[in-house]
Amino acid sequence: MGNTGEIRRLIEARILSGQLPPAGTNETFGRRGGGSACACCDFPIERSQLEYDVEVISELGPQATLAMHVYCYHVWHQVSLLWPAKAIS
Ligand SMILES: [Zn+2]
Repeated sequence: MGNTGEIRRLIEARILSGQLPPAGTNETFGRRGGGSACACCDFPIERSQLEYDVEVISELGPQATLAMHVYCYHVWHQVSLLWPAKAIS
C-alpha cells in the first residue's frame, strides 16, 4: 500500500472513470484476507490482514463484490463524500 495521498488519488480516479462506484450503504462483510487484489489499490490483501467484502449494485454488474483493505475502505468512504449525488444505496 502507498501513502494516504496516493491511495486517495487512485480511488478518486477510479470513481471518476467508473471503475469503482462511490460508497453508499453497502452490505459489508469482514473476513481474513485471502490474497485477492484490493479494488482500491490493487495490492493483495494478505492473510494477516482483515479484508472487507463490499457488495455493490452498479454499472459493474447487478451485484459485484469488491474486496478491499480496511484502510482503503475508509479512504474510499471519505473520497465518496465528494460524490453525494451519485452515491448508491
Ligand atoms: Zn487496498
